[in-house]
Amino acid sequence: MTLFEPAPVTHYVQIALNLPLRREFTYALPPGVTAQPGNRVRVQFHGRKLSGVVVNVSDTCDLPPGKVKSIDLVLDQELLLPASLLELSRRMSVTYGCSLGEALDATLPAAAKARGQRRIPHLELLAPPDLAKAQIEQLEEKHQERARVLRTVLEFGGPMQVNDVRRRTSTSDSPWKTLVKAGLLRRVMIAEDLQELVPSADERALRHDLNADQQRAVDAVTRAVEAKAHRTFLLHGVTGSGKTEVYLRILEEVRSRGRSGIVLVPEISLTPQTVGRFASRFPDVAVLHSGLTDSERGRQWQRLMQGKAKVAIGARSALFAPVQNLGLIVIDEEHETSFKQDCTPRYHARELAIVRGEIENAVVVLGSATPTLESIGKARRGIYELVTLPKRAGAGRMPKVIVQDLRSEPKEVQRSGVVLSRTLLVMMEERLRARDQVLLFLNRRGFSPVLLCPSCGEVVRCEHCAVSMTWHSRRGRLICHWCCNEKRRPESCATCQHPAMHELGVGTERLEAAVKQRFPEAIVARMDADTMTERGAHERVLGAFRKKQIDVLIGTQMIAKGLDFPDVTLVGVVSADTGLFVPDYRSAERTFQLLFQVAGRAGRGEKPGTVVIQTYCPDNYAIAAAAKLDYDLFVQQELQFRKQTGYPPFARLIRVLAEGNAEAEARALLEKAVTPVRGFAEMDVLGPAPAVITKVKDRWRWHMLAKCYTQASFTKAMQALGTVEDLATRTCRVTLDVDPSSLM
Ligand code: ADP
Ligand code: ZN
Repeated sequence: MTLFEPAPVTHYVQIALNLPLRREFTYALPPGVTAQPGNRVRVQFHGRKLSGVVVNVSDTCDLPPGKVKSIDLVLDQELLLPASLLELSRRMSVTYGCSLGEALDATLPAAAKARGQRRIPHLELLAPPDLAKAQIEQLEEKHQERARVLRTVLEFGGPMQVNDVRRRTSTSDSPWKTLVKAGLLRRVMIAEDLQELVPSADERALRHDLNADQQRAVDAVTRAVEAKAHRTFLLHGVTGSGKTEVYLRILEEVRSRGRSGIVLVPEISLTPQTVGRFASRFPDVAVLHSGLTDSERGRQWQRLMQGKAKVAIGARSALFAPVQNLGLIVIDEEHETSFKQDCTPRYHARELAIVRGEIENAVVVLGSATPTLESIGKARRGIYELVTLPKRAGAGRMPKVIVQDLRSEPKEVQRSGVVLSRTLLVMMEERLRARDQVLLFLNRRGFSPVLLCPSCGEVVRCEHCAVSMTWHSRRGRLICHWCCNEKRRPESCATCQHPAMHELGVGTERLEAAVKQRFPEAIVARMDADTMTERGAHERVLGAFRKKQIDVLIGTQMIAKGLDFPDVTLVGVVSADTGLFVPDYRSAERTFQLLFQVAGRAGRGEKPGTVVIQTYCPDNYAIAAAAKLDYDLFVQQELQFRKQTGYPPFARLIRVLAEGNAEAEARALLEKAVTPVRGFAEMDVLGPAPAVITKVKDRWRWHMLAKCYTQASFTKAMQALGTVEDLATRTCRVTLDVDPSSLM
């Protein structure tokens, strides 16, 4: 008698791996093992153990059975990526041209994957500070990168994450490893500290009675939430108009209907006030910030998945929070570039939030005082619903703006380069006498951006990048802002031997010196990437400013955003023109946004505020509109310009950048990449052409730009360009960037 045992049914799974391979791989499930789409598993892949995500399960398989390997194991059974996030990852991979595995890796953060507490490599000073200082001087000539690393750790004043050191010094692993071997630094493993977000009393935010404009906004959005259909709102409210209160109320409405919400803010460290206000109003908030340990983040994930936490708040990646029954996604300051990720997958959180809203029938609210042209363009075409808050809500009024035409300053003042116009000086004097505070904004660090020979006109350039080097007088070095390369100031011109070089242009360092000289009794502080090298420096300076221990605060864009100090009655924009001539179609938009946001820092309290905008181009439409604080005027002109030139919102952009050791290769790769999309309908291709900065870190840069005027042409272009990164060679990098935030 033969016993016919039923053959065990084999199940197969399709696995997406976090590799730049745009396909999935089939594995078998061992008998008795089950898995579902959204589970993480471990597999063998070409001799490596990798973890991947199950994206499909089936009973059949096209491959011969002997060819199919089994998975090793299912990781974290209880953790399952929700189907909606799997779908979001799929759409991300198609739109941004990454592999599904790469998209899933962003969606399912390392935090949720890791078990236990992750410990992070840090570097700390082992040598005594005096010895380290002496070493830095010695290393400075021959081993610049090592000198840079050592100085950065020394200035930080405590253990610093290896990744941060590398990023800030633009170096690889080898310099710090050498310093460790030499006994100057020590590598230590430290668990990332848990920065508890305890909402302070004043952030506990009184519940204001809504004004009529706010009420209208809340009602409009609430109706859409009620309808349980996806809809996108653009909340355009001037600075101080009470947008946060609107978000809070909408979220209350969403919660009272048993649904959940996600709130995205640009950078959590810069928005503790906003975060605090949400955390104090909702007991069930999960705050997802970079200071969380992995196990803590995993716990927040679980709370959200199980529906114990119903509101997630965080920066860009909080978009992927696994909230249950999503009703609302808020994007605060939707114009901020930090919503775009600048490494693979290069997604734009704002655009992807709308996709998630579609998938989960959730309402999306984009808020800003200066909405992007993309968003306002869509609102004007009725794709988004526009809601406006035209007035400040609290005590503050919009400031008075004075445009100071620098062409009318005396020639000697112009020539000397340091430009504090008479108007600004007089006003500063007056405000300082009244014990008010002054903010001076200049979006350029260092002493002067150019060191020029007055005789032959030669400029000191970086030998690795096609840019001029910035003179930093306090450090006494010339520094390249693209690769961090430094050098000594030449005694004479290298070309014509003229004995003195001339400092051209003004940076924050020079401005600080000028202000101190002019107002010796005032307490002046500077906030830019050069002065904020020590840990905790940011909070310290802002704290001192709040306590009125600082009279004049000078800064780059670091001080443009979010700051709310009632005693600031004067804001000076030292040069409104720094970004105006950057060859990017957004230069006018960015100039307008920055001026408008900076102006919003004045007159937040009871006292009226004044803004002085210094410019050589008072007639430029971005500056003229900012001076009138007239967003609509700016948009009207900018939309016209965008329409004529075919830029967003009238096109979606795809950029391909090739960076090669040899210029010819970068160019050739791009020619090859671009061939398939030439002549496509409803789109234009610009380039290949040398990038604006033609060389960075010894790599030659070429790029091309596809302007797709319709969704159909965008889809078609992505089918052709989605895999261009595969053209990369050992000596040439290729990057595909959809909705690029930089065209340099
Ligand atoms: P925005 O985010 O639009 O710049 P905020 O939400 O920070 O503005 O609000 C600005 C100030 O106005 C805050 O101090 C806030 O407490 C206050 N505020 C908001 N709504 C009201 C209201 N309805 N009545 C009075 N004050 C309000
Ligand atoms: Zn350089």
